[in-house]
Amino acid sequence: MIFDLTNFELTNNVVICAHVNPDGDAIGSSLALKHYLERKGKQATIIVPNIFPDFLKWMPGADSILIYTNKKQQEQAKAAIEGAELVIVCDLNQPNRLGYMEQDIMASKAPRILIDHHLDPNPDFCQLTFSEPEMSATGEVICHLLSKAGELDDISHDEAVCLYTAMMCDTGAFSFNSNRPIIYEYISRLMARGIDKDQIYRNVFYTASEGRLRLQGFLLYVNMKVLHDRHTSIMTLTNEERRRFKVKNGDTEGFVNIPLTMLGMRLSIFINEDTEHPGTMKLSLRSIGDFPCDQMASRFFGGGGHKNASGGKLHCSMPEAIEKVKAAIDFYAEMLK
Ligand code: 5GP
Ligand code: MN
Repeated sequence: MIFDLTNFELTNNVVICAHVNPDGDAIGSSLALKHYLERKGKQATIIVPNIFPDFLKWMPGADSILIYTNKKQQEQAKAAIEGAELVIVCDLNQPNRLGYMEQDIMASKAPRILIDHHLDPNPDFCQLTFSEPEMSATGEVICHLLSKAGELDDISHDEAVCLYTAMMCDTGAFSFNSNRPIIYEYISRLMARGIDKDQIYRNVFYTASEGRLRLQGFLLYVNMKVLHDRHTSIMTLTNEERRRFKVKNGDTEGFVNIPLTMLGMRLSIFINEDTEHPGTMKLSLRSIGDFPCDQMASRFFGGGGHKNASGGKLHCSMPEAIEKVKAAIDFYAEMLK
């Protein structure tokens, strides 16, 4: 299937949506598609379920993204969904990952296209599915589709910036999930569109607030527990601690990866109390090598994701969550030896 939205000749109004707690890949892929569609003369509106981190706000077009849970924007978001002739769902594999906007998106009569790289895509919720789980990012899936359509070398500077950012964010600046040589072919073709990849790196990674840096120090010094015999670390953060360090949601982005920089570590689990739903614990899992975070997340934490990066939730107190996490780690003791 060639990726050419001009196939949808009568389609003018497109809604692009992405997953709850949108990350760099979700925002970058959505924006790249928006710029692409607008270049083709279409109207495209991006709607995400909730806020996205400040370190993505520099991206071209980011200020046009509608936040569904923002009271001032919800009416506009609902109107866009109602008027949509096509919905593109980005960077998620299950409708429930649309969070608060799941119902509205699923109720829309417009055909849906899924563009994603998560394992086990739900085959039923979109009419057309481009799912490439071996790819590093939804941004890479879009590069692949544009390349197949013979369009990758003609994209705009803004499209290239957004695609590069998407891939860079989902691979930890090309430090994991990034061994497929074609990724570097895509990067070289994006660079030919004039992107400054060093500047993009600084835009995303050199933006810490003082609170974030101090919180990082506190979490590593005080809250990180290392289970040496399991090659695993557990780190926790409560809303009370978040307030103490005056940090916002996105300020903890990437923390879960830090314990994996310890020699011999295989698994890192970050238990983060949900800011919007106190009493709900959001879990982030990251592994190195073969350990299947997605299996652990779906078996124990009602979640899922990728082999090396997954997430889930627990509805309990922090001490209870820690016990549940320890039980899950014990279940996989053999694999974590
Ligand atoms: P993060 O730790 O950054 O929140 O999530 C990492 C990855 O895990 C996401 O890209 C997503 O694939 C997956 N993930 C996170 N939370 C959930 C969840 O509640 N359910 C499912 N199915 N996947 C999740
Ligand atoms: Mn992604």
